[in-house]
Amino acid sequence: MARAFSLVPKPVPRVETKYRRITTALPCPQSVPVLEKLHKYELRAMLGQPPVLWDRAEGFQVWDPAGNCWIDWSSGVLIANAGHSHPDVIRAIQEQTEKHVLATYMFPNEARARFCERFAELLPENHRKIFLLSTGSEAVECAIKLCRTHGIKVGGRKKNIIVSYDKAFHGRTLGAQQAGGIPALKEWIVNLDPGFVQVPFPDGYRTPDVSFDFFLKCLAEAGVEGPNVAGVILETYQGGSAAFAPVEYMQKLRQWCDAHKALLVCDEVQAGFGRTGKLWGFEHYGIVPDLTTWGKGITSSLPLAAVAGRADVMDLHPPGSMSSTHTGSPVCAAAALASLEVILRDNLVENARQMGELLHARLQALAAKQPQIGAVAGKGLVAGVACVKPGTQEPDGDFAWDVVEACMEKGLLMFAPVGYGGATIKICPPLVIHQEALLESLDVFEEAFVEVAARLETVAR
Ligand code: PMP
Repeated sequence: MARAFSLVPKPVPRVETKYRRITTALPCPQSVPVLEKLHKYELRAMLGQPPVLWDRAEGFQVWDPAGNCWIDWSSGVLIANAGHSHPDVIRAIQEQTEKHVLATYMFPNEARARFCERFAELLPENHRKIFLLSTGSEAVECAIKLCRTHGIKVGGRKKNIIVSYDKAFHGRTLGAQQAGGIPALKEWIVNLDPGFVQVPFPDGYRTPDVSFDFFLKCLAEAGVEGPNVAGVILETYQGGSAAFAPVEYMQKLRQWCDAHKALLVCDEVQAGFGRTGKLWGFEHYGIVPDLTTWGKGITSSLPLAAVAGRADVMDLHPPGSMSSTHTGSPVCAAAALASLEVILRDNLVENARQMGELLHARLQALAAKQPQIGAVAGKGLVAGVACVKPGTQEPDGDFAWDVVEACMEKGLLMFAPVGYGGATIKICPPLVIHQEALLESLDVFEEAFVEVAARLETVAR
């Protein structure tokens, strides 16, 4: 869904509440030169988000240079789990920079050691080897590499198939993109690797058959034999819809992977660090994956990612053979440790669970009234509202964009969605959001949604 927001300031009604403030045209006139500069020097592909120039972001709020203030339902892109600019995270970054250890490559640094130790002790037993990287895509690439390395070791070179899911998103690099399940994003890859195979994701909405037998049937139809599978990778919940798989399905998948010596990889880049109302998303399934990939909310701020998992798999490659220039940047690692401690100390996982109940109840009630909502999915502080043409399952990306835009004009910020034709509105505020602000933002969302729906009805008449 290629649609860009206009950079011409548009007069919008004034908003002034406890948590929101919109007092200028949008984008605010003083931000326009900066937006134009970005537009001039950056690629067109960067134009996809609401044109709000972030001047300051704290907790669950974002301000532009004119002092307009939004309740943030984006967390950046699910980054700011501990809230934007948490003082503890800022302090940790400052202390690390003041130590004058900013980058060490693979040379040891203490910040990396401290974060790895803390992260590992919170992970399940035998899932405690960690490799720090820079982006989620990089972590996914590494997981794919480990799956195939392991596959070759235990089953020979035929054991190289990576099974993943339709509509999955694992990043934009070559391997991650092929593990993804959005065909439009793969059109540029002329020579698709036949070792990547996707099956339908058991979301219970677009794939009504959520049985594990259906997984087996689809694999067989794709000509895949269990012994040739090196790994199965899935987002713990699908980013494009916020849908989880059924628990029973995941438990059977776990057993199936064990039976075939295939590695089970949960991509926790979105789901990790409290987002879903549990510290780790895979806890919802009562399983332990062989490998997990992490990013986004790992620091609530700076770029850091990780792969974690079984020691025998993580240690397949010899010393010096897996590296990345910024592996475990000490500044990012310090931020990660501080963010994790905030999440634990301030009970943000439980807050996500409780606020999630409120959020999902309200969204379900809205869905019952609005035929433009096909499904609401998610747990904790992540929700996906699938916008459809009423009475069908056909995604309505234009409708979703109009709602995102209307919300922006009312002081509620979210990122414009990708996947399903841009038709899933994603709701993922920082985990520090409290009841009063959540209720206020839900009121705004409902108001915007109903207004956009009414506008379309008027046009249709
Ligand atoms: N995996 C998942 C589940 C993601 O949501 C994303 C990013 N949206 C990625 C991987 C890629 O992460 P990054 O953009 O940091 O490369």
